[in-house]
Amino acid sequence: MSDFQSFDQLLTYCQERQNSIWQAALTQEVEDSGRTEEAILNGIHQLVAQMRATIESGIASDDPSMSGLSGGDAKRMMAFLQDSNCVLSPLNIRMMAYGLATLEENSRMRKIVACPTAGGSGSVPAVLIALEDEQKVSREKTVSGLITAGCIGEIVSKRMHLSGAAAGCQAEVGVASGMAAGAMVEMLGGSPQQVLHAAAISMQNLMGLVCDPVAGLVEVPCVVRNGLSGVQAAAAATMALAGVKSFIPIDEVVDAMAEIGKLMPRQLKESADGGLAQTPTARAFTNRFFQMSNKASNLY
Ligand code: SF4
Repeated sequence: MSDFQSFDQLLTYCQERQNSIWQAALTQEVEDSGRTEEAILNGIHQLVAQMRATIESGIASDDPSMSGLSGGDAKRMMAFLQDSNCVLSPLNIRMMAYGLATLEENSRMRKIVACPTAGGSGSVPAVLIALEDEQKVSREKTVSGLITAGCIGEIVSKRMHLSGAAAGCQAEVGVASGMAAGAMVEMLGGSPQQVLHAAAISMQNLMGLVCDPVAGLVEVPCVVRNGLSGVQAAAAATMALAGVKSFIPIDEVVDAMAEIGKLMPRQLKESADGGLAQTPTARAFTNRFFQMSNKASNLY
């Protein structure tokens, strides 16, 4: 846990010491936790290794989830890399496949790294691991990206609740996309200001995103949202690296997101009482799913 209560404080700290964001976050973590830098970095390396393992097992598997709502799309996406109709770059395709893979593994109840939550766990690994695979970014750079993402997520979490139930999907996939955008800028050599502009741009684009999971399961629309959010984070990172700035400072973006979360009706905050969860198709599925679940539980 760092002492930074705002992005403004973080930026001032970085500018005074000529630090990058990941260096500032690491220094704070050493001071606050009493652990050595080496021990902390080892832990981060393990998280990156788990993110890669989750992606690899997700891409290799076409097992459906227990509900049957998801599974196999990550594999399909990777196969599409070779298709002549594939107009997006290999980096973009990988980011989609890797985001899908992580959420599909989550739906299969397999091991993932929550980042910042399970429902938003696809974006950051998608960007980190796709950059390793397509741009040959070093593992050290990836670790610096994950620390940067973690620092962004931590400061956001001090200003608003990171859960769909509290503030809608903007607080999960939206914040994850900001973390991923900042991580990408860091990994590609951007400045601390550019990291924060990327995060702000990415988060404002997903501001107001509702949480409306079909049958209350973290699958539809969660899996495809995670498949897309890495690409949107990369687009925001590219804007920031090109010199595009967020007119609204990132602290104010986060505060606006928190305010929107409070204004959002209960039906759109993980209750499955609104949005996609209440479409005819979703309601028919939900009825079938709970009938089957009841029958199965009556057998015991
Ligand atoms: S829709 Fe809701 S449950 Fe699904 S990822 Fe977003 S916040 Fe999480």
